[in-house]
Amino acid sequence: MFLHGTSKVNEKNHLEIGGVDTVELAKQYGTPLYVYDVALIRERARSFRETFKRLNIAAQVAYASKAFSTIAMVQLAHEEGLSLDVVSGGELFTAIQAGFPVERIHFHGNNKSYEELDMAVKNNIGCIVVDNFYELSLLEQVCIENKTTMKILLRVTPGVEAHTHDYITTGQDDSKFGFGLENGQADQAVEQALHSEYLELLGIHSHIGSQIFETTGFLVAAGKMFGKLKDWKDRFGFAPKVLNLGGGFGIRYTEEDKPLPASKYVEAIIGEVKKHADDLSIDIPEIWIEPGRSIVGDAGTTIYSVGSRKEVPNIRQYIAIDGGMTDNIRPALYQAKYEAVLANRVEDPVEETVSIAGKCCESGDMLIWDLPLPKANSDDMLAVFCTGAYGYAMANNYNRIPRPAVVFVENGEAQLVVQRESYEDLVRLDIPLKSKIVD
Ligand SMILES: *Cc1c(COP(=O)(O)O)cnc(C)c1O
Repeated sequence: MFLHGTSKVNEKNHLEIGGVDTVELAKQYGTPLYVYDVALIRERARSFRETFKRLNIAAQVAYASKAFSTIAMVQLAHEEGLSLDVVSGGELFTAIQAGFPVERIHFHGNNKSYEELDMAVKNNIGCIVVDNFYELSLLEQVCIENKTTMKILLRVTPGVEAHTHDYITTGQDDSKFGFGLENGQADQAVEQALHSEYLELLGIHSHIGSQIFETTGFLVAAGKMFGKLKDWKDRFGFAPKVLNLGGGFGIRYTEEDKPLPASKYVEAIIGEVKKHADDLSIDIPEIWIEPGRSIVGDAGTTIYSVGSRKEVPNIRQYIAIDGGMTDNIRPALYQAKYEAVLANRVEDPVEETVSIAGKCCESGDMLIWDLPLPKANSDDMLAVFCTGAYGYAMANNYNRIPRPAVVFVENGEAQLVVQRESYEDLVRLDIPLKSKIVD
C-alpha cells in the first residue's frame, strides 16, 4: 500500500489524512466525500516554485484550475504564490469570486466567446492565450470597444505530443488547439499580433499533453519553438518576454506510474531554454509552466460507503459503492487506474480480489478492476487514492445523483469547502410545465 502526503494509518487502523480520521469525516459529512490533503498541495506547489527560485529564473507557475476549480482551492493557490489558468467564463468567475489577483490570471481555450473575452478584458486579467485567428480578431474587437489593450500569448502546436513515457512528433499539427508552428499559421499570427495596437504579444505557449513522465517531450517542444523564435527575431525583430511550456507533469496513481519530482522537469526545461536563448543571443524569457494534475492529483482521496455485493461464480466479485462515474468519470472515460483500501480497516489482511462498481445505470461504470481487499461488507468504507485532479472537476449529475461534498484537512483540522448537493439543488433549475398536457 502506498500512502501519499500526510496520509497514514492511525491506532484504530483507520486511514488518517492531515491528522484527521477519514472514517470520522465520512460520518460527519457523509459519503462519497472528497478529502484533500492541504499540506500536500502546498508541498507540490512549493516544489515547482522553489526550483525556479533556486536557479534564479524569472517564472510563473500557473495552477491549471480546470483540474479542480473551487473558491477555496483558488485561494489556496493564491496563498502559495501560484498564478492561475482558467479555460472558461465559469473558471474565471470562480477566480474572481475567490479574490485571486487578476494580473496573475491567464485565460486559455480554443473557443472563447465574445462574452468571455469581454469579461476577461473588463476584469483586466494578466494575459489571454490566443488560440486561433478568429479569436485574434474577436479579442482585438473587444479591446477596441473597451478602449484598452490586452497582453497575449499565442498558443502554438509544436508538432509534439507527449503521453506518459512516449512522445511523438506529429509532423503536421492535427490538433484543435493552437496555431500550427510548421505550417505558417504561427508566423502569420505573430505578424498580425505585432501589428495590432491593442494586443501586446508577450510570447508563445505550448502544451504537449498530460500525465507525462519524461522530460524529452518538453525539450523537443522548446527546441521547435526556438527554431521559430529565431525566424521571428530575424524577420520581425521580435524577442519573447515569456515562454510558456504548459503542464502535463505526471503523478503516481498506481505502482506502474513513476513520475519525476517537479524539480527534474523544471531543471530540464530551464537548461534547454538557457541553451537556446544563448544560441539566439536573446535574454532568457520568463518561463511559465502550468501544472494542474501534479498540484492537486495525489492530494485528493475519495471516501465511499460499501453497499451491495454480487458474485459471478468462478469469475468475479463485484462490490458496489455509493458513487462512481458521477464523481470520478476517468476510469469510464479513459480506463484510468486507481489504488484503494478500506478506510476503516486499512491494514487488515487481504482476503479476496474484487472489482469496484459504481451505482450508475451503465455497465461501464466501474471504478477499479481486480482490487485486492479484506472481505468488505456494507459497514465498510472504501478510500480511493489520487482522485484530486479531474474528479470533482468532472463530476456530474447522471442518474440525478447529487455531487459529493469536498473537505480540506490540515494539521488535525477539517474544513468543508464545497457542500454536498441536495435533491432540491438537482431540481432547482427545472421549470414545471405551464399547463397540463394530459387531463
Ligand atoms: C490541461 C492543461 C494543463 C494542465 O494539465 P495537467 O495534466 O493537469 O498538468 C495546462 N495547460 C493547458 C493549456 C491545459 O490545457
